[in-house]
Amino acid sequence: MTPPRYDAWKLAAPDDETDGGIGEEEGNPCNRFPEPDEDQPRGYLPTRCDGTMVFDDVDCVVFCHVCGE
Ligand SMILES: [Zn+2]
Repeated sequence: MTPPRYDAWKLAAPDDETDGGIGEEEGNPCNRFPEPDEDQPRGYLPTRCDGTMVFDDVDCVVFCHVCGE
């Protein structure tokens, strides 16, 4: 039998990556993870995008000039 505390610990694994701190406004750092790519080697660890959010006057949206999100 597994002690309940073990399950609680396992399910409560640190998860700061879930939409944590991604840039949503002009001038914010992007901080997004890139889309999964099938060409990436197995076990590839994505790094957060180091782009900056910019405002697109044409489409009136804020996007990252590095990854386009
Ligand atoms: Zn980006």
